[in-house]
Amino acid sequence: MALRGGGRWARLGSALRGRSSGPRDTGDTPQHRDLRETLRKIIDKEINPFVDKWEEEGQFPAHKVFKILGQAGFLGVDKPTEYGGMGLDFSYNIAVAEELGNIRCAGIPMAIGVQAGMATPALTRFGSHELKKQFLVPTIAGDVVACLGISEAGAGSDVANIKTTAVRKGNEYVINGGKMWITSGSQADWMCLLANTSEGPPHQNKSLICLPMNLPGIHVAKKIDKLGMRSSDTAQIFFENVRVPCTNLIGEEGKGFTYQMLQFQEERLWAVASALKPLETVIQETIDYTRQRKVFGQPVLHNQSVHFRLAEMATEVELLRSLLHRAVGLYIEGNDVTKFASMAKLKAGRLTREVTDSCLQFWGGMGFTSEVLVSRLYRDLRLISIGGGTDETMLSIICKYMEILPRK
Ligand SMILES: Cc1cc2nc3c(=O)[nH]c(=O)nc-3n(C[C@H](O)[C@H](O)[C@H](O)COP(=O)(O)OP(=O)(O)OC[C@H]3O[C@@H](n4cnc5c(N)ncnc54)[C@H](O)[C@@H]3O)c2cc1C
Repeated sequence: MALRGGGRWARLGSALRGRSSGPRDTGDTPQHRDLRETLRKIIDKEINPFVDKWEEEGQFPAHKVFKILGQAGFLGVDKPTEYGGMGLDFSYNIAVAEELGNIRCAGIPMAIGVQAGMATPALTRFGSHELKKQFLVPTIAGDVVACLGISEAGAGSDVANIKTTAVRKGNEYVINGGKMWITSGSQADWMCLLANTSEGPPHQNKSLICLPMNLPGIHVAKKIDKLGMRSSDTAQIFFENVRVPCTNLIGEEGKGFTYQMLQFQEERLWAVASALKPLETVIQETIDYTRQRKVFGQPVLHNQSVHFRLAEMATEVELLRSLLHRAVGLYIEGNDVTKFASMAKLKAGRLTREVTDSCLQFWGGMGFTSEVLVSRLYRDLRLISIGGGTDETMLSIICKYMEILPRK
């Protein structure tokens, strides 16, 4: 596969790289805003007009949408230019995640997040040049769909307890087991797979492997019917004696758990960023609706209990944004931000539930219909408290970093 080079977006990437982006924790620079504006236009033209249809159909066309985003450069803003990325820092990826929040559902942004920021950080950092040419380049270009295979039917929060095995036989791994809840699983061309490659201690016996999804022995068992995120397909997948070359191993054998924990930092920051705009949109659309909806002779909005609550929620969203930008700033400088990323993800999980719940109530019966965005986001955004680790997992990590409990 030829490496992507040149093009309008490579040029924009190099223009943006050359400029100072100012202090990291103060939010956007003009360069971030340029990037956002271009993405916003693509969302308005290529995605939002079709969201209702894709939600109804229970799947969006990932190959088509990713090709559009890939050609425009948005699937690799922080990836090396050598592999077709823009070579910008992680804050630009976060700006992209925030802007994707303008899509009028959360399922499509989540799948884009898997493609652009969740399935590839370890490959980018630790993968061989050959592996990056084979998997990273087409993923950034939007020529293939990627998925991330960590969770299993018997192990979600407890990642160390996964049972899928990849046993070395000659120059190949033979993979057996299964994965559950795999975003884009029924459309994916390859999976970043976490599997046990030895019998050793659970944090040292795992490896990440690039697994093409068209190999014999891979069965997409079912597309899961879900409460929300309906346009994103979520699949259960089984592996039966699937043979993959050992050269598909990412980095070192036995380091998979550590690589995945590092990968989770970006996933969690991305998830927080992607929730900000939907929260603001729900608040704004609730203001607009309650301003024109009259009860007992006055707009619903004019009740102090309503407008105070809306103002309070908007304040909380701004606080979440500040915490996110602090964590992103520290991350770009090379710090371990596991604690702050977990705090932000915990807060985002709580806030998405609280905001959508309060706002839905202010819409009265209309909030209970599928005609309004607030009801879709009420369902979709609950996933922030689950995907990439639940609220309780975030609390456990924060406690560990605060050294609240004695070390085992
Ligand atoms: C729509 C969707 C998309 C997803 N996409 C992907 C994907 O692409 N790839 C992937 O690998 N996974 C994916 N997931 C899986 C997701 O990461 C897991 O669902 C999540 O990690 C939780 O695991 P679990 O569902 O097994 O819950 P469990 O681990 O069974 O947790 C059950 C309950 O126990 C609670 N709990 C956990 N630890 C503690 C504790 N210490 N104290 C108290 N309570 C605790 C949890 O908070 C939860 O409430 C997806 C899930 C969904 C729903």
